[in-house]
Amino acid sequence: MRIRQLPPQLINQIAAGEVIERPASVVKELVENAFDAGARQIELDIEQGGARLIRIRDDGCGIDREDLGLALSRHATSKIASLEDLERVASMGFRGEALPSISSVARLTLTSRTGDAPCGWQVSADGSESDFDIQPAQHAQGTTVEVRDLFYNTPARRKFLRAEKTEFGHVQTLVQRMALARFDVGFALRHNQREVLRLRAGGEDTDRAERIGALCGPDFLEQSLRVDFESCGLRLHGWVGLPTFSRSQGDLQFFYVNRRLIRDKLVGHAIRQAYQDVMYHQRQPVYVLYLEIDPALVDVNAHPAKLEVRFREGRMVHDFLFSALHRSIAGHKPGQTAVAME
Ligand code: ADP
Ligand code: MG
Repeated sequence: MRIRQLPPQLINQIAAGEVIERPASVVKELVENAFDAGARQIELDIEQGGARLIRIRDDGCGIDREDLGLALSRHATSKIASLEDLERVASMGFRGEALPSISSVARLTLTSRTGDAPCGWQVSADGSESDFDIQPAQHAQGTTVEVRDLFYNTPARRKFLRAEKTEFGHVQTLVQRMALARFDVGFALRHNQREVLRLRAGGEDTDRAERIGALCGPDFLEQSLRVDFESCGLRLHGWVGLPTFSRSQGDLQFFYVNRRLIRDKLVGHAIRQAYQDVMYHQRQPVYVLYLEIDPALVDVNAHPAKLEVRFREGRMVHDFLFSALHRSIAGHKPGQTAVAME
């Protein structure tokens, strides 16, 4: 067998295989791009669970006409330029792969306008092109990405799509989780033209309670302790459920590192340890926690979908989490809100 160079669309489809599992994964990539663009409002239109249509519109910085083709090209990004940048990356994206990957497994149209452009510009792609046909289009400042017929050309993947309701459920949960990362961004989510979720931008406590309540249940805030703890350049804040407000599964555990939702064994271990003396072994705590850490101390390039991170000082992070939470949880009295500050 001779070795041959794979065609660009296939290369992109292989990359898509790593991160684009279902409509919710497309939504994750596109919402992250909107966050990185500085959007204040994100509108999502979904049809048939996302299999037929995913359209995301933001009011962020937009993309220059000259850059539209690059946005759809592999390994092209505005977010990093060097290894140094990668090692302290603060944006959600940096791989320059999402748009070309998605375009290779769906019908993608990108429309965008920057603040100083007299009009918007539109381009479509299927992940194989090196030349792009860019047309003028009406658009307010910001970007709309439209993704139709996901996996239309990759039947093996399409087969794995579940019922419309299930896929939309994944999309909705994902949007709620991402909304918990950014209280300053407004969201609207429509499914088959029906509004399912509308979250106002702003840091008001009532709005926060609404967002958290939607995911963790209306009682969560009453049944939890507020945590705010800072030490050695690390800050942990958010809410931890009272030991009495436990669950049989770990389904209400949200941990964000620099606003990125992640799963991490070390984090899970530190939190379990903190609850060890006050919660039955089989029960799972409920929490919404945010860790803020110098981006140079955490490697987000550990997983293509960026669901995992590597802490450069794992032990220190573990001990910090444990002691912050242990103090809050052990020191609490039922019905009282504990704020642990240092
Ligand atoms: P990455 O996010 O890793 O850079 P993507 O393929 O997701 O890669 O996007 C490629 C580039 O397109 C981004 O670096 C960014 O410059 C631009 N881009 C994508 N989506 C948006 C958006 N919603 N608003 C502004 N620019 C965007
Ligand atoms: Mg991206």
